Amino acid sequence: MTKAPIRIAILHFAHETVSFLKNDTTTEDFIYQGSPAAGEALLRAYPKSYMGGFVKVAREHDGVELVGIESPLWPKTGTGSGWITKDAWDTYVGKMIRELKARGPFDGVYLCVHGAMAARGVPRPEAELARLVREVVGRNAFIAATFDLHGNEDEEFLKHADMAFTVKYFPHYDEYLQGERAARTLVRAIRGDYKPAHVTIRVPIITATVRQWTGASPWMDLVQRALTWEARETDVYINMFFGFPFADVPDVGMTVQVLTNGRAELASRIGRDMAQAIWRQREALLSRTKVHAIADGVALAKQAVASGATPVVLADHSDRSGYATHLLREIVKQNLSNTLITTLADAKATAAVKASGAKGWRRVRHDGRRPCR
Ligand SMILES: [Zn+2]
Repeated sequence: MTKAPIRIAILHFAHETVSFLKNDTTTEDFIYQGSPAAGEALLRAYPKSYMGGFVKVAREHDGVELVGIESPLWPKTGTGSGWITKDAWDTYVGKMIRELKARGPFDGVYLCVHGAMAARGVPRPEAELARLVREVVGRNAFIAATFDLHGNEDEEFLKHADMAFTVKYFPHYDEYLQGERAARTLVRAIRGDYKPAHVTIRVPIITATVRQWTGASPWMDLVQRALTWEARETDVYINMFFGFPFADVPDVGMTVQVLTNGRAELASRIGRDMAQAIWRQREALLSRTKVHAIADGVALAKQAVASGATPVVLADHSDRSGYATHLLREIVKQNLSNTLITTLADAKATAAVKASGAKGWRRVRHDGRRPCR
């Protein structure tokens, strides 16, 4: 039997906004060679990430047409900029919604977002984008999204969208995988084979990103618990938003979403289990990773060098490593010799290095590779 053709619109709008930075993210910040992107260029924009996985699996299905709606890629400021301006929001979202209207109807929409966007005058940007998309495509279409686990999302997003898929690991090894899942489940939903029934539970915990490595307990245990549920029950997907703390937004912090195939009671049961498991670990989540003050860390490094325990790695995890020079200042102050500084975001200093003809110079690319990975 030939299956009816399916049309899926694809939108991208992503940022991890530190709302405490002084420089807003402006309309111009999203304009550079390749951005905004439309059509095939959008579909090819991030081949190893969510977008690549989504497009790969969507195209494994017969009769699926993907429509790349003109979308801004990651701003050229990377993650080093604050609030998305009202003008940038209105400009890009307005354009996306107009094009969506003009080129419809669609059976499905894929929103490639991050989850920690903060936009002036828009309390929940990703949920608002989903709401506006829903107004255009109607209740019969399905909306699926992929997220970074550093997203700040509450119940609002899945009021408007049907499905969300969030990476489980930090660093985010599974972006491509979540894109694949989003495509497969979206196509199934459109064909009547998956009926999204979900639950969202907020967990009142905020942690600094430096604590969130999933390679060790207690975070690793939570990931394992989610994977176990997904293995035990077919068609279950669990999203754990760790949250992004450097944002003054109403939905900041941890959130669990559970997605099932028409099993609302199961979604609630798993959601409660995950939320309780997280809450039981609340002390460890905040404190298990030992973080040294800068002066103490440099002093420890000096001791280690003196005792021959090299190499020593000083990880300045401000979540925007290299954007600040506090560690460098302390290294100079304590006279810690033979230190290689690998990240430095200082335009004057890097220009001087470049001008000196230093070998191995490489410009930092604004390709969506984010420090939070
Ligand atoms: Zn992240």
